Amino acid sequence: MHQLDDCIFCQIAQGNAPAYKIHEDELTLTFLDIFPATAGHLLIITKEHFTDIFEARPEALARVASNSVLMTKALEKVIAPDGLGIYQFNRACAGQTVFHYHMHLIPQFEGKDIGIHSKQAGDPEQLAAMAEQLKAAIQ
Ligand code: 5GP
Ligand code: ZN
Repeated sequence: MHQLDDCIFCQIAQGNAPAYKIHEDELTLTFLDIFPATAGHLLIITKEHFTDIFEARPEALARVASNSVLMTKALEKVIAPDGLGIYQFNRACAGQTVFHYHMHLIPQFEGKDIGIHSKQAGDPEQLAAMAEQLKAAIQ
């Protein structure tokens, strides 16, 4: 499987860098964004390193999509947001900042205008508690 030593998401996928992991299978890994736009902000990544959709394998992206449904159900149980923003950026000019394919799931609430990229790191205790709740809510 193609992976890069200097890619933070490859390091997380290989277990060499920490993350609040929620779900994993042979193709994908889901974990909390460390700079959450809102509580429960998730990233689903491919385990294999694809810089972006321009080089990604369709089967891996299909698994990211099917796991987004699984994770939506867990978010609904734990957070019950008013809406859910799903974002996926490819290349810097489209807003991508980590160059390893990933999808954002961001709970949204009526009347709350959120930015996708937060400048504030999440509180470790709150992230750990959220990860436990979401893990338990996956069916
Ligand atoms: P994008 O590339 O789609 O613009 O966003 C990358 C996302 O990855 C950002 O929301 C950022 O907060 C998140 N991120 C960057 N580095 C890390 C990290 O080391 N761990 C985690 N969990 N998230 C990260
Ligand atoms: Zn990578």
